[in-house]
Amino acid sequence: MFNWLKTKRRERALASYAIPDEQWLRALHELSFLDHYEPALVERLRELATLFLVEKSITSGAEEGEHALEVTPHMRIIIAIQACVLLLGKRGTVAEAIEDFANFENVIVYPGDFPQSYDFEDEFGVVHKLDEPVAGESWQGGPVLLSWPSIDAGYVESGMSLVIHEFAHKLDMLNGDIDGIPPMPAEHIEAYRAAISDAFEDFCIHVDANENTAIDPYAAEAIDEFFAVTCEVFFEEPELLRLEYPDYFERLKHYFGIDSLQGQLLEDA
Ligand SMILES: [Zn+2]
Repeated sequence: MFNWLKTKRRERALASYAIPDEQWLRALHELSFLDHYEPALVERLRELATLFLVEKSITSGAEEGEHALEVTPHMRIIIAIQACVLLLGKRGTVAEAIEDFANFENVIVYPGDFPQSYDFEDEFGVVHKLDEPVAGESWQGGPVLLSWPSIDAGYVESGMSLVIHEFAHKLDMLNGDIDGIPPMPAEHIEAYRAAISDAFEDFCIHVDANENTAIDPYAAEAIDEFFAVTCEVFFEEPELLRLEYPDYFERLKHYFGIDSLQGQLLEDA
């Protein structure tokens, strides 16, 4: 049952901590994938981002030393907007929508890629420490870790949207399973599962054949990575995802409640 006190507190926060115009416009200017979104939707995004900034602690993972990173208000807003775009089409008030991010508090920002913080157990049960540094991590019920240069590069330059990727993992984890299937109304699950499975299978065939894929081949790693990568594409390059996997694109539209091509709420979601 949704907590009435929480709602009241969030309504008060919205009134008191709105993101200042100048900072908001500067951040929007850098996030060109939102250019075609309807003004009412952009305003809703601003409210979601406001709540995100009130409720989350976004701190530096390297406060001292040669590579120290100071997390500025601008960086926080850039992160908040891209995380909250995932909740933009959710029905209900913004105070209800932000609840999908309620099970964690901390976002930690690093000055570069960082060593992976967990061990990896292979199919024989042998535990390895992965040496390969990573740009981002999402912990089940824990923090989101992000490398600032990867965020700052932007999708147009880097072909990746790290923030959307890691927070998409957060949504996937909400029902306890990390399987590319976030919680959704029961009547939608089967169609969604079929669409993502078909798309993933097809994508892996192309990657295994060493073809050049328009979507980042990292998506072939596992179905949860396919979900996170295609969420990036859904928002940043919707036309590409619609052309490659039209059925899956439709299912994602329903899941997000957004037509990212039109920049509109989905009427019949
Ligand atoms: Zn991932």
